[in-house]
Amino acid sequence: MQDTELYATLLSLGAGWRVREVRLDMAEKRVDVWVETTEGGNWGCAGCGKVSAIYDHAQEQIWRHLDTCQCRTYVHARLPRTSCKEHGVRQVAAPWAGPRSGFTLLMECRLIDTLKECDVTGCCRLMAISWDQGWGIVERAVQRGRARKEKRIPRYLGIDEKSFAKRHNYETLICDLERGTVEHVVDDRTQESLEVYYRQFAEPERREVKAVAMDMWDPYIAATRAYIPAADLKIVFDRYHVTRLVTEAVDKVRRQEHKRLAAQGDERLKGTKYLWLANEENIPEWRQEEFAGIRKANLRTGRAWAIKEALREFWRYTYTQCAAKFFQRWYFWATHSRLAPMVKAVKTLKQHLANILTYFKHRINNATVEGLNSKIQMVKEMACGFRNREHYKLAIYFHCGGLDLYPATVTS
Ligand SMILES: [Zn+2]
Repeated sequence: MQDTELYATLLSLGAGWRVREVRLDMAEKRVDVWVETTEGGNWGCAGCGKVSAIYDHAQEQIWRHLDTCQCRTYVHARLPRTSCKEHGVRQVAAPWAGPRSGFTLLMECRLIDTLKECDVTGCCRLMAISWDQGWGIVERAVQRGRARKEKRIPRYLGIDEKSFAKRHNYETLICDLERGTVEHVVDDRTQESLEVYYRQFAEPERREVKAVAMDMWDPYIAATRAYIPAADLKIVFDRYHVTRLVTEAVDKVRRQEHKRLAAQGDERLKGTKYLWLANEENIPEWRQEEFAGIRKANLRTGRAWAIKEALREFWRYTYTQCAAKFFQRWYFWATHSRLAPMVKAVKTLKQHLANILTYFKHRINNATVEGLNSKIQMVKEMACGFRNREHYKLAIYFHCGGLDLYPATVTS
């Protein structure tokens, strides 16, 4: 087989195209392939598809293709231009590459696969492309994926806020809890942020939403009440956020008590922060004895901790009624603990109880989606390398959007 024939086959060149020349440069580890049009090809106008004669050929373009063994491989071609009465002179699209891409379709797919596995910098190093080229692939892939995505509102929504860069920058993430995808990312965490998302859908569509998991965050509650019919039966305050509120109260009690004890030269609480915050079974074995000792010491922190641990029982109930009864007993205990931060936290929970109990009907929370949170966390960590917020958002769509990212004409 001739080298030109070999490459015509490898590139899957169809009718109208052939390989004119292949050049191998072993010193540079590089293969260059020149592709040209043949006589008698059928060329459609890019505007209407009507078969037209070739008017002329555009300047030579070069596309990077998948490597040939250890050699970087480039495809060169002068694309034909047609002349149509209606659309004038137009360039014919290359069958091996997408518009405005410096890569062939197969190479673009390989780059997308690589970008899914590591960050942009890592991909650029592995594939020997520039950061801008790598980022361009991400941008185009997300654009394609979002344009193709069916416009529908998920039945089970998860609303979550994520801080970005400096602590007080937030993004609101709207997730599909059934598919485990991020549907939409919008700046800030205001009522408007969430309403922007809801407004894309007509009322009959919004009515189909069965439940929405979220933090006890007034702007999200207000937006959901404004746009989701029967919202009060559908809002589920997320287990993670409920637990966090109580855990933070334990930490406040510990800080106050440590300060008081330390003033008397008692350093027992020093270095114990994470023992109180962790779930009991997650305390490392080598600290269990120490922790058991300090828990028996009748400290205020120990009492706050016991209240926090008891709340875990709450989520195990099957029936709303039983869970509500448990909460009443737990609430009585906590409010009589004389631990001010704990009393404050449980009063907040009591205020929101109706929509904490909805959990027992809908059984959703933002952590239901295995893997989604860790993926978002990974994107957040990579985000250190991102230049701005738009990059961060695009990366979330790329990694967590469940989008069809590949160029259209690739079927293999
Ligand atoms: Zn035309």
